[in-house]
Amino acid sequence: MTQLEQLPIPLLLWYREHARVLPWRTHPTPYRVWISEIMLQQTRVAAVLDYYRRFLEEAPTVKDLAQLPEERLMKLWQGLGYYSRARNLQKAARQIMEEWGGVFPNTYEAIRSLAGVGDYTAGAISSIAFGLPVPAVDGNVLRVCARVRGDDADISAQATKKRVTRDLSQVIPLDAPGAFNQAMMELGATVCLPNGAPLCDRCPVSGFCRAFQEGRTGELPVKVAKKERRVEERTVYLFFSGDRVALRRRGNKGLLAGLWEYPNELADGTHYPQVWGLSPGHLERAGTGKHIFSHIEWRMSALAGELEEGTPLPQGWVWASREELRQVYAIPNAFQAFAPQVAARLGPF
Ligand code: SF4
Repeated sequence: MTQLEQLPIPLLLWYREHARVLPWRTHPTPYRVWISEIMLQQTRVAAVLDYYRRFLEEAPTVKDLAQLPEERLMKLWQGLGYYSRARNLQKAARQIMEEWGGVFPNTYEAIRSLAGVGDYTAGAISSIAFGLPVPAVDGNVLRVCARVRGDDADISAQATKKRVTRDLSQVIPLDAPGAFNQAMMELGATVCLPNGAPLCDRCPVSGFCRAFQEGRTGELPVKVAKKERRVEERTVYLFFSGDRVALRRRGNKGLLAGLWEYPNELADGTHYPQVWGLSPGHLERAGTGKHIFSHIEWRMSALAGELEEGTPLPQGWVWASREELRQVYAIPNAFQAFAPQVAARLGPF
């Protein structure tokens, strides 16, 4: 028997005992599984729990999500990052309303055709919510498979992912595909940890895991390093007037599309207030911040200044009060470093 063929039984027995109790696992409807899987992309379980609860309260069905005003959607997502995920969720909800009359599609191909749903998410929804025998291969699963098989192929290569998916589809148990996929993810997330620190002494598959038996858990999986990030030095402007701060809406395309921000530009020596037709008088240094996106790193320095009450702002900008910062405008985490300066002036929000 191959290592993969030996996996299902010990893994499922272990999962029955050790599965974490998570809200989307208790009633795994397609909608609930879908929302949780999208939220969990690039985000840890602990960070998702509150977001998930609030989201389900406000948009308990596909129809509610399809009809949610965009500002509300962004506000519900504020802090989770990778905002295109939220936009795609709504796009897909509208697809389901239009193409399937509001009923969640029940084949792998149809689920895979939804906006923002890739191979992994389609596999997770198909198997967990519909009991279809389709693997769901994410970074956790790739790591477990590489170690169990002693496979030193690069797990960031598409070809490796394809091969692992094909091999797992041969061994996925037909009577418990959802539990099997979740057990694989759970093992990767809680036992077969990344960065050479797996907890092999409590692993249900250590008896036939090649990386463990050959002492190669520190070397596997092999992952070829990605390209370096581009660094951008940016100046962030905190313009105050009375008890308000100026916000600008980002364009509809690209990084943080459509979200609100403190106006900021590349620190290229241009005096931007003049470009915007604003005269804040004296600008004071107001702290620094850093934010890392997948391909870019922002290194930000803030300048704060006062504008006369009633100063007209450029198009697409607004004056926001403390209450509006709390309730209406979604400001991405990238600007979190400047929240204390704004709160010092407007009060906590
Ligand atoms: S024995 Fe260790 S390396 Fe192998 S699957 Fe388990 S935790 Fe991972």
